[in-house]
Amino acid sequence: MPVTASERTPEPDAQPPSAKPAAKAAKSAKSGAPAKADAPAKSGKAAAPSSAMAKLAKLGLKRDVDLVLHLPMRYEDETTLLPIREAVHRAGLGFAVQVEGEVVSSEVTLRPRRQLVVRIADDSGELTLRFLNFYGSQARQMAEGVRLRVRGEVRGGFFGAEMIHPVVRPVGPDEPLPDRLTPVYPATAGISQAYLRKAIGGALQRTPLPETLPRPLLDGPLAPLKLQPLAESLRLLHAPPPQVDEAALIDRSHPAWVRIKFDELLAQQLSLKRAQAARRARNAPPMPRRAGGLLDRFLAALPFALTGAQQRVVKEIAADMGAPHPMHRLLQGDVGSGKTIVAALAACQAIDAGYQAALMAPTEILAEQHYRKLSGWLAPLGVEVVWLAGSLKRTEKREAVARVESGQAQLAIGTHALIQDTVRFAKLGLSVVDEQHRFGVAQRLALRGKADGAEQDGAGSAPHADEPATVPHQLMMSATPIPRTLAMTYYADLDVSVIDELPPGRSPVVTRLVNDARRDEVIERVHHAAAQGRQVYWVCPLIEESEALQLQTAQETYETLAAALPDLEVGLVHGRLPPAEKAAVMDAFSANRLQVLVATTVIEVGVDVPNASLMVIEHAERFGLAQLHQLRGRVGRGSAESVCLLMYQAPLSPTAKQRLATMRETTDGFEIARRDLQIRGPGEFLGARQSGEAMLRFADLETDAWLVEPAQQAAELLLSRYPEAAQAHLSRWLGGREHYLKA
Ligand code: ADP
Ligand code: MG
Repeated sequence: MPVTASERTPEPDAQPPSAKPAAKAAKSAKSGAPAKADAPAKSGKAAAPSSAMAKLAKLGLKRDVDLVLHLPMRYEDETTLLPIREAVHRAGLGFAVQVEGEVVSSEVTLRPRRQLVVRIADDSGELTLRFLNFYGSQARQMAEGVRLRVRGEVRGGFFGAEMIHPVVRPVGPDEPLPDRLTPVYPATAGISQAYLRKAIGGALQRTPLPETLPRPLLDGPLAPLKLQPLAESLRLLHAPPPQVDEAALIDRSHPAWVRIKFDELLAQQLSLKRAQAARRARNAPPMPRRAGGLLDRFLAALPFALTGAQQRVVKEIAADMGAPHPMHRLLQGDVGSGKTIVAALAACQAIDAGYQAALMAPTEILAEQHYRKLSGWLAPLGVEVVWLAGSLKRTEKREAVARVESGQAQLAIGTHALIQDTVRFAKLGLSVVDEQHRFGVAQRLALRGKADGAEQDGAGSAPHADEPATVPHQLMMSATPIPRTLAMTYYADLDVSVIDELPPGRSPVVTRLVNDARRDEVIERVHHAAAQGRQVYWVCPLIEESEALQLQTAQETYETLAAALPDLEVGLVHGRLPPAEKAAVMDAFSANRLQVLVATTVIEVGVDVPNASLMVIEHAERFGLAQLHQLRGRVGRGSAESVCLLMYQAPLSPTAKQRLATMRETTDGFEIARRDLQIRGPGEFLGARQSGEAMLRFADLETDAWLVEPAQQAAELLLSRYPEAAQAHLSRWLGGREHYLKA
């Protein structure tokens, strides 16, 4: 029969936890694998070594409460022992067991390779422990006669039952067993479980965890959720009693987890709501749409009519900009839906009202294209447009900056050079960020900080510090649609406009998958398209490990194609080309002096050459769905039937297969985003850049969507009736990271 630890009832009250967790942590500190024995000094409350502190900080664990909220991923059950004979019976079942026995032999054998073989025995039987990597100290620790507590999986080895690389610990004859499951925490290199357990155990003991949810809320609107007290939930999760429903802990459906996830979602909602309130309380220059002004003249000069969807979003934006509070709007529209004109119209409205507008794009190619397009539209109407990018010559840049500063430039277009410290706008009324998902959170905050007359924040400085009294209106544009639950949590402080209609006359791009072995046919296809006056993009493979290798591949592809298509003009563009050359190549392609453009992913976003109707993507299996969709969006912009050939190299991984099938089956960006979310899950979907540090650690927006709305309601009630509780809750969960949630 298994030996079971005496069961203790959980602490009945909300006292700070007894010494139990710490004692346990200290105990298990010794039980960690001997190889990573970087546990801290033995004395219980001694300050942690600073290097370990730094590593904890890297995990975001700076305050005691951060440690308390660092929760286990899983547990090890060290509360029971099996007699060796029973453990051996369970060989091959695929789960770990714990046994105790005395070392009867210990030897280092050299065949088939050097290894340490230890045999232990108890009253019921014998078991072999095998170590393929080991230190001398480990071998000495397991000398004959030593009593070992051993945890691992028993396998039916060639020479009988054995454990390979078990966790072992020498113990005295009556060493008690832990009475709680042993937590396994998310860790980082250089931090052992033993160290984390001890640090967290200590923090749990020191940290008072008063309830932040007011009684009337818990008993009222939140009652149906049956939320458990927080302190109790945390203690349970860090040190569950062995009889707990472990499966519910692992899949995080246990009531203790529900409480934690609710609190996390609540913190997020509180933060977003506060940001929203702060924004509403701030001033922005009202710039109502003026009849007969620049905007109307621009519309009249356009060679085409706006689509219904464009008209609708233009109206929504115009109304926001007319208000004395900063607009904070996301304009979503699939690739090719015509967002640029909408941005131009918003800029017109700002300029009509006597303010400056700024348009920021993530790549120089795109920014320059915007510059050409918008100055082509607006300069004839008398608008001063200035171009600002990192690649400008010193003097040119100084001049551009001067024009922005004097207010002479009414519209500034550029890359993130726009948000550098040296750039001060005289009277910035509107900032537009194109392809906003490509920018980091800090960059977006910095552009917003560029209000008139205010102290300027650098891109890196805390956007919190001196937020200007008036801020410009802000319009963000993106072709990456955000599913509803994500929008509710990450973008609760954003109003969203959607362009759900493509300009007329587009025929959907036909997508084909082509095995790489048929490259010759693809080249023939390129030839044929060019012979008919069409233009072609040839996208080179993504090589994540090495940019140098990627450039080399691009160069080689270019040379091969140029040789294979001697009667065509082939160009090459990549990220490392000097900007002037880059611009020259793009120019030549736009003007149809080049028929084939070999490119890296620098052309991924925004590039607009309507005459291009064939796109070849090499090694398409290496690209993500969003990226493929963006790339494919470079064709199908004119009236000609467009084709996208996705070349792949077999064999395909299952997810690559799914991605390519998705691309073949649909051109709808929303559908693609939905499937992308399915394939990747929300964390990766948003990416660290998108969400900043606002990522949810515990709540999962798919399984926990039912908690989002109650959290939203609770946030409202807390802010309006219990502001102190709201503050306490926020600082518990977010500490100093709060401002990132606003981006
Ligand atoms: P995206 O939304 O991907 O940024 P763009 O703004 O680059 O799309 O627009 C794609 C192409 O469609 C451009 O060539 C643009 O001039 C054209 N376009 C935009 N709106 C219309 C419209 N209403 N009718 C016809 N063509 C349009
Ligand atoms: Mg665009």
